[in-house]
Amino acid sequence: MTTSAGYRKPLPYPENREFTKPFWDAAKRHELVLPRCKQCAMYHFYPRETCPNCFSLDIEWVPASGRGRVYAFTIVHQAAHPAFQEETPYVHAVIQLDEGVRMISNVVGCAPTPEEVKVDMPVVVTFDDVTPEWTLPKFRPA
Ligand SMILES: [Zn+2]
Repeated sequence: MTTSAGYRKPLPYPENREFTKPFWDAAKRHELVLPRCKQCAMYHFYPRETCPNCFSLDIEWVPASGRGRVYAFTIVHQAAHPAFQEETPYVHAVIQLDEGVRMISNVVGCAPTPEEVKVDMPVVVTFDDVTPEWTLPKFRPA
């Protein structure tokens, strides 16, 4: 069976879903949020229940700009998970967000080639409704 986005099931699902629920709920609304420490005001990503800067447990989810730059990328021809093999080739990238954190995602909306995707290329978030339950933040050229 394939999803509307063409993925073969079963898809891998996030761990620690209870803590990251605000992130996934926002993605479903096509909004990007990031965890930020209420004590020292630093953003962090991946989501952690403890601030990696000051070890506070007082974390809030705040709207993010959705803007950033490609920090690093690779073009995947052999997917690490079989659910994504039909999507190859695709761009697996580390995005440096304007908030100062890095997020692993995909670059979409351009050809998955080194001629089209460049390190330091400005990108903006877009949302991929991969299933009725799950939406993934991805990035396209800005
Ligand atoms: Zn902190």
